[in-house]
Order: sequence, then C-alpha cells, then structure tokens
Amino acid sequence: TYKYKELNVISATTMKMAEEIREHMDRLEKEKRIRQEFFSNASHELKTPITSVRGYAELLDQGFVTDEAVKKDFIARILKETDNMTNLINDILMISRLEAKEAEVTYSTVRMVPLLTEIFESVEPIAAEYQVTLHKECEPVSIEASAKQLRELIMNLVSNGIKYNHPGGNVWVEISARGTDMCVRVRDDGCGIRKEDQDRIFERFYRVDKGRSKKMGGTGLGLSIVKHIAEYYNGHIELESEPGKGSCFAVTIPGNQTKS
Ligand code: ADP
Repeated sequence: TYKYKELNVISATTMKMAEEIREHMDRLEKEKRIRQEFFSNASHELKTPITSVRGYAELLDQGFVTDEAVKKDFIARILKETDNMTNLINDILMISRLEAKEAEVTYSTVRMVPLLTEIFESVEPIAAEYQVTLHKECEPVSIEASAKQLRELIMNLVSNGIKYNHPGGNVWVEISARGTDMCVRVRDDGCGIRKEDQDRIFERFYRVDKGRSKKMGGTGLGLSIVKHIAEYYNGHIELESEPGKGSCFAVTIPGNQTKS
C-alpha cells in the first residue's frame, strides 16, 4: 500500500506538471497569434495610404492634371496621408515600447495641474477647429510616474472626446485624488458607444466608424495605448457610455508608484 500511495502522488504531480506545460504552451500560442495579427493589421493599415500617395503622385507626374485647384487638392491629400502614416508609426512604436516594458521610462514627481494646463494648450486649437468646448477641473495632485506616459494617456482620451463629438459639444476633464490613488475622468457629450462595442474599442485597430476615425487622423491604436499605460501602473479603466448621449472614461492609477 505504501508503494501504491507513492505512485499516486507521482502520477498526480506529473499530471499537474503536464497541465501547467499545456497552459504555458496555450499562452505562448495566443501571444504568437496576437503578434501575427498585429503585424498583418499594421502592414495593411500602412499599405492603404502608401497606395493612395503613390496614385496621386503618379497622376501628378504624368502631367495630365493641369487644373491648379485639382493639383492643390491632390497635394493636400498626399500630405494628409503622410500625416496619417506618421501618426500610425508613432503609435506602433509607442505600443511596442510599452509591450517591451521599456526600462528607460523616466519617473519623476508629476504635478497634474501644470501637466493638464500644458495638455490643454496643445489640444485647444483642435477643439476650436471642431467647435468643441474643453473644461477642466484638477485637484493639486502629484504622482510618481512618467510625465510622457500620463500626457499620452490624457491626450488620447481628450482627442477622442473631440473627434467623436459634434459642433457645440463639450469635453470635461477632471483629475482628483481618491486616497492615495489618482483618478482621471474624461467625459464628453458626443456620439457615445454602443454596449457591444464598449469592450472591443480597447482592441488594437478596432474602430466603430472606420471612415470617421481615418478622416480625423485616427489610427485605431489610441485606446489600446491608454489601456497599456493604465496597466503599466497597475491601474484600471472604467467606461460608461450611451449612444447619442456621450461617454465617460475613468482611469484610476494607484499612488505611491515606484520605479519598476
Ligand atoms: P481611433 O484612432 O480610431 O480614435 P482609438 O483606439 O482611440 O482609435 O478608439 C477606437 C474607437 O473607439 C474609435 O474609432 C471610435 O469608434 C471609438 N471611440 C473612442 N473614443 C470615443 C468617444 N469618446 N466617443 C465615441 N466613440 C469613441
């Protein structure tokens, strides 16, 4: 009976190990699939503007376009497409750095009041262009983090609030302390997001309205970057949204962050 017991223990341990190995393999397989999907999507997203730039350049080169207004329009389209490509490449680089958990993230004591003022200065011209009014309310909070990452997170949420809005719309940014945590809430009274899209919008390259996103220079990567940054700080995102009424993204970041 003693030997029988031993055999039982050995077989249970072996089965547990086999189970763990299987889970590990599944995880690796899933990561591989996600990576492949990302590269194939990114290549596709780049191919489209490259084809269009080439098309306009060829037409201009052939000399058939003589009308100055049409020429100007083609050049404007080329410039817009190259801007889109630059946005896309910057976002891809940002994601790959976040995924590699880059060691060179510079932590400092970030004071949120001046950071938010600086963010507003850079987004106000865009808001004015789309006739959206920006509002802010910021408690004097400081957090040990990377100013660059926090700027990126807030900029992405605010620019979405502007992009997916209508003339006369509003975007409210509120930063507050909750115990040692910091909460960043970005609310808008724009087009809102349907329930079935609410989880999916954090996926890379997922857009509800691709045409609208592209027209506004969107890459489909903004919210995935926001999610990555929040997770980098062990934070989380909550979303409340109603189609036709607006959306509210609330990001909570635990305080007392230390360099990892
Ligand atoms: P994009 O570059 O397309 O804006 P994001 O990852 O930032 O990419 O957002 C993904 C999609 O989620 C957008 O294409 C849009 O459909 C939707 N979305 C994001 N923010 C908002 C918002 N504030 N209001 C309505 N829809 C939004």
